[in-house]
Amino acid sequence: MSCTKCGSENVIIHRRYSGQHLCKKCFIETIQKKVLKDIKKYELIKKGDKVLVALSGGKDSTTVLDILSILAERNIIELEAITIDEGIKDYREKGIEYASETCKKLGIPQHIFSFKEHFKITIDEIMASKPPRKACTYCGVLRRWILNKEAKKLGADKIATGHNLDDEVQAIVMNYLEGNIENLTRIGPATYSQKFVTKIKPLREIPEKEVTAYVMAKGLKVHLEECPYRKTSFRKKIGTILTGLSKDHPTILYSTLRGHEKIRNALKKELKGESILRECIRCGQPAARDLCKTCTLLKEIGRLKDEIHSHNR
Ligand code: SF4
Ligand code: ZN
Repeated sequence: MSCTKCGSENVIIHRRYSGQHLCKKCFIETIQKKVLKDIKKYELIKKGDKVLVALSGGKDSTTVLDILSILAERNIIELEAITIDEGIKDYREKGIEYASETCKKLGIPQHIFSFKEHFKITIDEIMASKPPRKACTYCGVLRRWILNKEAKKLGADKIATGHNLDDEVQAIVMNYLEGNIENLTRIGPATYSQKFVTKIKPLREIPEKEVTAYVMAKGLKVHLEECPYRKTSFRKKIGTILTGLSKDHPTILYSTLRGHEKIRNALKKELKGESILRECIRCGQPAARDLCKTCTLLKEIGRLKDEIHSHNR
């Protein structure tokens, strides 16, 4: 089989959803072009933006950094990275090490923050407390809190995350199955919300398998290990079902994504926009009620002390 684009015999990937066979060079080019095209199409980035990549050292965020570094090299954006240490022993250390190496190699400034310094507690400690808790719920909410707070302080216009096509479709299906219809209106290429730094997902239309192929083709050093808490998560279960379905229905991820886009606006109208956000009375971050989600969760685990949250907004 030869490359659909250049005729080379060294094919490294077969895209079942489009029928294309691609060699390494053409594959790398198609991924970069697609991501840069989507950034333009969905107006994710403006010239002069300061973009902060939420960099874990894994394949997805490293790919985002690698592709956005093309725009930084062309002086279209200012690019920096932010890495969060959630405190997951024997897992997160390696990711941080690889993330730092990548930043050094690309000459991109990196900022590292931890749950321990912000909340005086790690995910491992939360999981060791009683009753048993869902790691990803705490991890996601607390991480977003640090990201928003520090991105504001750093003067960032956008936070770029590594969500790929599989992640996005998993989120759509999970929220649908759990009846979180309001959340469905917030899933999209960018999340604009009052008082939050805008989050963008440049890899949203790239299948996970192709992100893995991209890091291998480019020889990027990434942390491929899976988080120990992911194994038992609902997301993992949904991901396994969707991967199984994709084998016989190669276009199913894209059709689910497109279907969601069609109903998103109708849902927004039905739900009459998002609720007005105010400031959390404990930490000053955006909140739908008196306490933001982070302070609510910290209160739940009995660790909400005045010294935990400084009020420097
Ligand atoms: Fe955090 Fe869950 Fe991701 Fe692990 S899998 S890093 S616990 S959100
Ligand atoms: Zn708060």
